[in-house]
Amino acid sequence: MPTFSLPLPDEAATERLGASLARRLRPGDVVALEGDLGAGKTTLARAILRAAAGDPKLIVPSPTFTLVEVYDTPKGNFWHFDLYRLEAPEQVFELGWEEARADGVVLVEWPERLGSLLPKSRLRVALSVGEKERQATLVGEERLVNG
Ligand code: ADP
Ligand code: MG
Repeated sequence: MPTFSLPLPDEAATERLGASLARRLRPGDVVALEGDLGAGKTTLARAILRAAAGDPKLIVPSPTFTLVEVYDTPKGNFWHFDLYRLEAPEQVFELGWEEARADGVVLVEWPERLGSLLPKSRLRVALSVGEKERQATLVGEERLVNG
């Protein structure tokens, strides 16, 4: 599977990655945003959403409590899930998971909460905070990783 790593030294680097992903994503794509608390998952989701919306000031709250937020953009609907508080994988259906999959692009923080419901076909973006720098590692199909 194509893999690509890049450093994210500052939020501007995360914004550039978000913009480049927003250009490549199409309805039906699932982006699994992996990483610990504070790794930068919401920051990257925000960058993707702002680029897709063409609005650098778009307000993108962390969906920690609502678990999901939907954005209507010129590139179709984008669904932003934060599944940290999901109690069981099946609970995702109550959040509109199937509708989201059929409707647009799906961005998921804490994708591991989905267990076996996690789509096999997805772009994985693993975010990490090292001692010296933050980094993103993308794993997925060529079109999304090296597009
Ligand atoms: P998560 O959603 O993974 O818990 P957040 O996106 O909320 O993480 O980010 C946590 C903190 O890290 C925020 O204060 C954010 O501004 C900061 N941050 C995120 N990405 C970067 C980056 N590339 N460089 C520096 N700080 C960052
Ligand atoms: Mg978050």
